[in-house]
Amino acid sequence: MTLPDIQDVINAIYVVAVLVFILGLRAMSSPATARRGILYAGVAMLLAVLVTFFSPGLSNFALIALGVIVGGLGGFYWARVVKMTAMPQMVAMFNGMGGGSAAAIAAVELLGNLSDPATSGLSMAGAIIGSISIAGSVIAFLKLQGWITSKPIVLPGRQVVNMAVLVLGVAFGGYALYLLNTFWLLPFFVLLLLYGILLTLPIGGADMPVVISLFNALTGIAVGLDGFALVNGPLGDAGYAMVIAGVLVGAAGSLLTVLMARAMNRSISNVFFSAFGATEETGGPVQGQLKPIDAADAAVMMAYASQVVIVPGYGLAVAQGQQKVKELADLLESKGVTVKFAIHPVAGRMPGHMNVLLAEVGVAYDKLYDRDEINAEFPATDVALVIGANDVVNPAAHRPGSPLQGMPILDVEQAKNVIVIKRGQGKGFAGIENDLFYRDNCRMLYGDAQQAVGALVSELKKAS
Ligand code: NDP
Repeated sequence: MTLPDIQDVINAIYVVAVLVFILGLRAMSSPATARRGILYAGVAMLLAVLVTFFSPGLSNFALIALGVIVGGLGGFYWARVVKMTAMPQMVAMFNGMGGGSAAAIAAVELLGNLSDPATSGLSMAGAIIGSISIAGSVIAFLKLQGWITSKPIVLPGRQVVNMAVLVLGVAFGGYALYLLNTFWLLPFFVLLLLYGILLTLPIGGADMPVVISLFNALTGIAVGLDGFALVNGPLGDAGYAMVIAGVLVGAAGSLLTVLMARAMNRSISNVFFSAFGATEETGGPVQGQLKPIDAADAAVMMAYASQVVIVPGYGLAVAQGQQKVKELADLLESKGVTVKFAIHPVAGRMPGHMNVLLAEVGVAYDKLYDRDEINAEFPATDVALVIGANDVVNPAAHRPGSPLQGMPILDVEQAKNVIVIKRGQGKGFAGIENDLFYRDNCRMLYGDAQQAVGALVSELKKAS
């Protein structure tokens, strides 16, 4: 009996890791199994990384181990302490680091193998995409973190300048290949990083879901291209693992990008090249008055309703009021009220944010309705209870010339009564005034979402 070649064993384990990855992705497609999916993907990644250490020809163990330990501990710590509401900026940053790593691997390949046309061509493509991805992701992080404005930053002549920076950057890369001189890789990388920054600055806050998903997809593609480049090197088969991981991330990210773009009713080119949201608000000052309501009156209104639709938004996630919302829904149902949840795909700060929040406290999935399902029901709804949502219910989206024009929203203004819970007069993430709050059928229940919903629960209990 002959023992199998170590590389064959490693390759077999890569195949197992890939299958577990795919099972993980599959499980992530439903909130009920998503946690399991994340676990599968984590185990698959651990397996792929560990087995790579046994690759024949691998050197620099200490440096690699140091990188894995520093990155692993950093990622573990950050993921433990991050608040759910800060998840998108963490995802943007982690995506960016993936893109940065892909660009760094490509740089090493280019420095070592500039004369090999296959390796250098693939590495150059990986470097271009990876550099744009890390630079753009950093800008997305800064916007989401609130360290720079989430409004579009529009520089004069930006289309021409951006195109010039991109073309010049790629030209420097071509020049480096032509002269086989690595010096020209320096302006190549600098200009591509600059392009990533310039491309992302004009994108407004409301479009960030599309941006994050697209950079995620780009990172996957860059990693896949690097993998192909590595296949020609001494660690050839490890390159295949990267190709597969990159293709999976690229494909999943692309699908998510399409879904998010559809949720915003924007084409991807419109998001990236039109500085949407940079237009000034039109329609003049908002007409009408804000009409406050207290918890007791709001509770009575809901207790006598036949249908209440709850619309959760980012403010609910900030206030961590989901447990109270579940209590409220249960209480109303015990009084014979039909309660439904209207979930906008970009409510909160990450895709699926509201689903996760409500799943955490055991709200049944069949009570969650997406925009297309629930919009037709608003005219027959007695009370639409908006909790910490703003952009996703802003009727300005229906107004030509509005910065939000075209974004599909939840049409809560069509309900017989609207109650909005928020702390004050803060605007939504897109920074646009919301005239829903001034409409005749709308009442404002001011306060932190957790406390305000808690007050509704207490009032309803008192009444029972
Ligand atoms: P918004 O960010 O538009 O509005 C949230 C509202 O909640 C604010 O007006 C704020 O008003 C209120 N609020 C904040 N904190 C509290 C609190 N503790 N208690 C009660 N209310 C509070 O939220 P939406 O969910 O409507 O929209 C999401 C926005 O984020 C969209 O523009 C979307 O495109 C964008 N986005 C979404 C991502 C995703 O993937 N889902 C990713 C990145 C961006 P006040 O200060 O008066 O309380």
